[in-house]
Amino acid sequence: ALEVHDVHKWYGAHRVLDGIDLTVRPGEVTVVIGPSGSGKSTLLRVINHLEKPEVGYVSLGGELIGVRRHGERLKELSERAILAQRSRIGFVFQNFNLFPHLTILDNVAAAPVATGKLTKPEAQELARELLTRVGLGDRTGAYPRQLSGGQQQRVAIARALALRPGIILFDEPTSALDPELVGEVLAVIKDLATSGTTLVIVTHEIGFAREVADRIVFIDGGKIVEQGPPAQVLDHPRHERTRDFLSKVL
Ligand code: ATP
Ligand code: MG
Repeated sequence: ALEVHDVHKWYGAHRVLDGIDLTVRPGEVTVVIGPSGSGKSTLLRVINHLEKPEVGYVSLGGELIGVRRHGERLKELSERAILAQRSRIGFVFQNFNLFPHLTILDNVAAAPVATGKLTKPEAQELARELLTRVGLGDRTGAYPRQLSGGQQQRVAIARALALRPGIILFDEPTSALDPELVGEVLAVIKDLATSGTTLVIVTHEIGFAREVADRIVFIDGGKIVEQGPPAQVLDHPRHERTRDFLSKVL
């Protein structure tokens, strides 16, 4: 399981995460919703140790991410150890972040080679498989700039899968896309969700959230206001703030 334990993150006097506790079990799909500035991206970045929490910790499969216990305190792991841990956590960004100078095949094959997990031919074979899975098996020689935003985002998903991560984090994967390209990316994520991949997805696509989520987590002001199955949080929200948010996005 992924466990986020009493995580606090602040910038100066600004409390961005204010005591987040969250457990995501293997195979579970958690969708995080909440207003702009509520701390959703920061939470994903803390999970991946791209940001360091001031208080609290994150663990995946029982292993602390980014830190180890040192008596009463938590001590930072080496950069190398953090990178090794990050390879267990896939991250798909809003803006794809592909390598522009590499073909999409090499974009997907790069990380397993760089981390020494696979030889180059093995990685390329895996990349071909994964690109086929996201519907791009016939475009392996293309460069990112030759593809649409939706296609680029599907490459980014294939790239995240290439390290066979225990969990994949998505930060608003469709919000940079033209409306007609959103569906093809959501379809790929839905395929992952139904095949048992553990996912944490930040999105404003509430209809999609309802379809794929085992659990919806509503965050406001750096706190989890409420969480539960979609039918509870979306249809019978208990808190005024959740009702207010949903009335604006639905
Ligand atoms: P959105 O829906 O707009 O993406 P969000 O819920 O993802 O919003 P975050 O990006 O996590 O929100 O930001 C939460 C708050 O933390 C914001 O007020 C933001 O300005 C602040 N913040 C984020 N990163 C930093 C930083 N590096 N330095 C200072 N403040 C930051
Ligand atoms: Mg964000």
